[in-house]
Amino acid sequence: MSSWLQKQVNERPDRPAFYWQDEVWSFAEVGHEVRCWVTAFSRKIPSEEKRIALFSRNSKEMYFSILALWELGKELVLLNTQLSLQELRYQLADAEVNQIVLATESMSFLTELESFTLIEMIQSEINDSLVDEITSVYQLETTASIMYTSGTTGNPKGVLQCFSNHLASALATQENMEITEEDCWLCPVPLFHISGLSIIIRQLVLGCSFRLYSKFDAKTVTDDLAKNKGTVISVVAIMLQELLENYPETGYSSNFKAMLLGGGPISPKALKTCECYGIPVIQSYGMTETCSQVVALRFEDAAKKIGSAGKPLMGMAIKIVDSNEKQLESNHVGEILLKGKNVIRHYLNGEQWQTVKWTADGWFKTGDMGYLDEDGYLYLVSRLSELIISGGENIYPTEIEHVLLEFPGVIEVAVVGEPDEKWGAVPVAYIVGTPTITTETINSFAKQYLAKYKLPKRIYLCHSLPKTASGKLAKHRLTTIEREAFLSK
Ligand code: ATP
Ligand code: MG
Repeated sequence: MSSWLQKQVNERPDRPAFYWQDEVWSFAEVGHEVRCWVTAFSRKIPSEEKRIALFSRNSKEMYFSILALWELGKELVLLNTQLSLQELRYQLADAEVNQIVLATESMSFLTELESFTLIEMIQSEINDSLVDEITSVYQLETTASIMYTSGTTGNPKGVLQCFSNHLASALATQENMEITEEDCWLCPVPLFHISGLSIIIRQLVLGCSFRLYSKFDAKTVTDDLAKNKGTVISVVAIMLQELLENYPETGYSSNFKAMLLGGGPISPKALKTCECYGIPVIQSYGMTETCSQVVALRFEDAAKKIGSAGKPLMGMAIKIVDSNEKQLESNHVGEILLKGKNVIRHYLNGEQWQTVKWTADGWFKTGDMGYLDEDGYLYLVSRLSELIISGGENIYPTEIEHVLLEFPGVIEVAVVGEPDEKWGAVPVAYIVGTPTITTETINSFAKQYLAKYKLPKRIYLCHSLPKTASGKLAKHRLTTIEREAFLSK
């Protein structure tokens, strides 16, 4: 068995490792079950198949599949179940996989994917017959997982995550959040994302337990947090919002440590509500390429550094540079560059990205813009590709979006640049809201808070906004002819 799982089995066999619905699995039980899954997989997958795709929503079967396939030394391509067939075909072809494991109830539409072998794995297929003891170790420099970026700024890129990247990330999280075996990490985020997969890694490396949810349900999670069924939880902004709406009068259990918030920006309004309720939120910044968070805000700094994503975690370096890669002083906005053992060194089939995304001396160019304050805390401002330069002034869409979101009836906003003969580009806003809102009322509201050059020159009312399979706003699709499809008639 792999050194990581075996270590936990040896050191804390009877400690809880994994919670699924009403089930509790100790490390020893997980270890045994994984060996049974290894047996089943070794019968179904030819040993020469090095790379296997996994298509599943969160499930017990998905968890055991991941661990068993790693025991067998496979590289896992984790597919987002929200992808369209066309997107799936692209990722499967790019990753050159032949076999897809389905560790969830049957996904019949996948049979339309010609030329792939589908392997259904359900618990009832697993029996107790064990293969000989396996002695695999996770080779640190080999690929553990391949995940595609969300495709927020264009085509998704295949990210090759090594065990060493995952290990560095887990150790840094332990140091930052003081994780011990007493902690139980709630996982309502998908395992096919780094936010979810990194929780399994923490369990294997740090010996904490984790509770997996098939999907996010605010009421269930709230109940579990109130009943001491988890000490830490990973959430994205929309989940946090729903948890706030369901916050119980009696609060969460006193053992609850923190919500780790990642994935994207959060509105200052939501953060203020968390502060009022006394919910410790650890804002973090990271990406698929950094195998989870790389910068995070410690509990004790949360109140004094509101809006910041925090400081680099242990072993991670950060700098802010201008367009010539010259390092900028504090409080100057530029591109965020990262270095550290958790950061990947190249993309799958990504030769064309090598000089675009890495500097000659090995810094990873995130494509995100931000600044470090005088104390070294990072503030995110925008994506480089979303920056609007209007008459020589830099305009950051999020600043405008935060103002517009304050207007009653506004539900979602995307501000993008539109080409303009006089100014080069001007900001325009795409808004989803209740029927009560009009472009005139929004405009007069925005005028009170925004300088003239930041006022959206046009406001388009929409029935919805374009999203990626991970639910992120895909603004680049609003700058093409495709935008017509989102406008209210
Ligand atoms: P693609 O790279 O394909 O365009 P993506 O960048 O959205 O997609 P992910 O790796 O899922 O793919 O997301 C990482 C990005 O999410 C970061 O680069 C950053 O832009 C954004 N992000 C992460 N954390 C935060 C945060 N705390 N605040 C603002 N943005 C964040
Ligand atoms: Mg990205």
